[in-house]
Amino acid sequence: MDYRKEFVVNPRKKLKLARIDPVQSGGHASNEAAQPEITKYVTRMAELQALLYANADQSLLVVLQALDAAGKDGVVRHLFSGMNPQGTSVFGFKQPSAAEAAHDFLWRAHQRTPGKGEVVVFNRSHYEDVLVVRVHGLVPESVWSKRYALINDFEKLLTENGTRILKFFLHISPEEQLERFKQRLDDPARNWKISESDYSERELWPQYVEAYEEALVKTSTAHAPWYVIPANHKWFRNLATSQIIAETMEEMKLKLPPTRVDLEDVRRKYHAAAAAQEKRNGKG
Ligand code: AMP
Ligand code: MG
Repeated sequence: MDYRKEFVVNPRKKLKLARIDPVQSGGHASNEAAQPEITKYVTRMAELQALLYANADQSLLVVLQALDAAGKDGVVRHLFSGMNPQGTSVFGFKQPSAAEAAHDFLWRAHQRTPGKGEVVVFNRSHYEDVLVVRVHGLVPESVWSKRYALINDFEKLLTENGTRILKFFLHISPEEQLERFKQRLDDPARNWKISESDYSERELWPQYVEAYEEALVKTSTAHAPWYVIPANHKWFRNLATSQIIAETMEEMKLKLPPTRVDLEDVRRKYHAAAAAQEKRNGKG
């Protein structure tokens, strides 16, 4: 199944998240059944990241957005399970610091975008400024409503500079969120993830859905598409995101960089060094 075609947000069509089933699993019966395919894409992503790093002429930015407990942290762990830490990083967007709040809303995002050869994952992102900010009325509508166009321009700028951008909305049901909140309560190792605001934010679910539906449609572009990933099944969410990333990286036509030295010359130096070493060893 081609998840890029399946889950991409069409900017010309009204998006109704309620019509997308968060439980679907692309025809796979179980985690076990999907594992070989998941492994295949993770392995391929790792190979392509190595090429991206070696070549250092393009970069990749992955944006993760979702309601609480939808699995953003899990996707980060999954995507990076195969990649070399060198050349990759994650940035989590929290409430803006004083310095961040004193600048335009794209300032902090821009500073964290990938340099050439790098893969960066945004765990939350500049989209919070049309999501939580809108839902809580932190700025007036006259301000947030202009941000979609500013975001599209910003992402276009990054694209023109050699950055591929992929954006995932992890889609879970309210029932699944509640189940995960329960696991956080029951499992001492997960207690730390509980936040005071979990339940009050949950009450705002419809407002968040409305904000997401508008944001995703207005900012899903050819250069920076949004994908709505059914995420009730963690393994399917991992499969779909890694397939989409691996196939997008295939399109980047990543190749090993050209050799910067004269190999014949270096080979001669090697043989001379090896002969000298042998001589020293013989004497020793
Ligand atoms: P977490 O992802 O659980 O670590 O929580 C981060 C919190 O920071 C979430 O509640 C976000 O909604 C909040 N946050 C992120 N960006 C912004 C922003 N621009 N304005 C206000 N709150 C934000
Ligand atoms: Mg949270």
